[in-house]
Amino acid sequence: MEDNAIVDIDMKGAPACGRCFMLVARYAQQAVASTGTYHRECFEAWYFGRYGKRPRLVAGHNGDRHRFQVREREVDRAA
Ligand SMILES: [Zn+2]
Repeated sequence: MEDNAIVDIDMKGAPACGRCFMLVARYAQQAVASTGTYHRECFEAWYFGRYGKRPRLVAGHNGDRHRFQVREREVDRAA
């Protein structure tokens, strides 16, 4: 019973990945851009396909090591 409650809380409010549209679990490695949240693998695959290089992702602060902020300036310059 308690286990079920924990799963509910973890997925509540979880954003959908902007690329594969599956939910991004709270503690999954993820990339956060101004356009939305992506699985880290999804974002890297998309970015590499578009720009031909790996994105520069900055690990979040406050111990959020699984959450990476996308350096938007890099994206702008590449585009
Ligand atoms: Zn995804």
